[in-house]
Amino acid sequence: MSLYWSNTVRGLVPYVPGEQPRDRAFIKLNTNENPYPPSPAVIEAIEALLAGGGETLRLYPDPLCMKLREAAALAYGVTPANVFPGNGSDEVLAFAFRAFFESSAPILFPDITYSFYPVYAALWGIPHKTIRLADDFSINPREYDDSAGGAVIANPNAPTGRALSLRDVVSIADALEKRRKVLIVDEAYAAFGAESAVSAVGDHPNLLTVHTLSKSASLAGLRVGFAIGSEALIEGLFRVRDSFNSYTLDALALAGGAAALRDRPYYDALAAKVTATRGRASAALAALGFTVIPSKANFLFIKPPRFEGGTAAEGVSAGARFLAALRERGILVRHFNSPRTADYVRVSVGSDADMESFLAACGEITA
Ligand code: PMP
Repeated sequence: MSLYWSNTVRGLVPYVPGEQPRDRAFIKLNTNENPYPPSPAVIEAIEALLAGGGETLRLYPDPLCMKLREAAALAYGVTPANVFPGNGSDEVLAFAFRAFFESSAPILFPDITYSFYPVYAALWGIPHKTIRLADDFSINPREYDDSAGGAVIANPNAPTGRALSLRDVVSIADALEKRRKVLIVDEAYAAFGAESAVSAVGDHPNLLTVHTLSKSASLAGLRVGFAIGSEALIEGLFRVRDSFNSYTLDALALAGGAAALRDRPYYDALAAKVTATRGRASAALAALGFTVIPSKANFLFIKPPRFEGGTAAEGVSAGARFLAALRERGILVRHFNSPRTADYVRVSVGSDADMESFLAACGEITA
């Protein structure tokens, strides 16, 4: 706390990102990174850009990000005017909250979802209400229909991995359109098996889908995200960005991101590999007695069976103890310490070798 902080900063409860260990080689299953390398075309594009002796770095990057937007438009069957690029989808989401939500009307999102949503809402002074997920962590779309301020849904949801059908997403967009409110659908993990709502953007002027190259394109370090929506929504996002920083994407991110979006075959094969590993890991965990929430993402939300491992300290949840036991064995996973998620951990789907080590550790801990 500092007496120089503004009242807003005093009141913030910032998001805490997953650990990026520097000191020790862990098997990292805690931040949903893709275990496989990005497309060689991405490396080539970045190397080609640097081969010019730094000329591209001397200049400001294209503020309209046209090459990246053209590549995204081609990949998703829309036009560049339907694409807003940002420094990771986190930034796109933050701008979208600013652009489309008001301080006068609460927005809705699930009680268990991406923990950055309440942080953005607080930063911009937007009130929010959470809607309780069903006990199986599913979303009832009808509970979002009469939102006075708009709604945000991650599809698949995080950290549960459960997905809504396109029909259900569209039905919420329809209901909110009648109220002239925006529905943001965060599709960070959609490439791993959920139905994207991009096809509905053309006839839903209030629907914004948000995407990232961090997970499906193995580019978490490049920081490229984008939104797809009606031209008017995209223009609204540019109005916010250009009141903040017109160069949110650097030249390397623009070149590498465009190359990734052009290499569909490579990434379709990666998604297939990750989802196959997910299927095998789910079955193996279920056989060990874990509760496994059905996932359409590159992670699994799991509850261990009764076990004695970790610190047995009074009041420490099963999820936290399980995380500690895995950490002792060199494996990082993520735990969310709220009452309904405390017994679970979220495990990113890693390589087959990483998942074998993880499953062996699970067997050992719960034996
Ligand atoms: N949405 C969800 C649901 C996420 O889990 C994440 C990753 N933490 C993001 C958005 C942001 O991803 P990025 O900023 O790397 O694009």
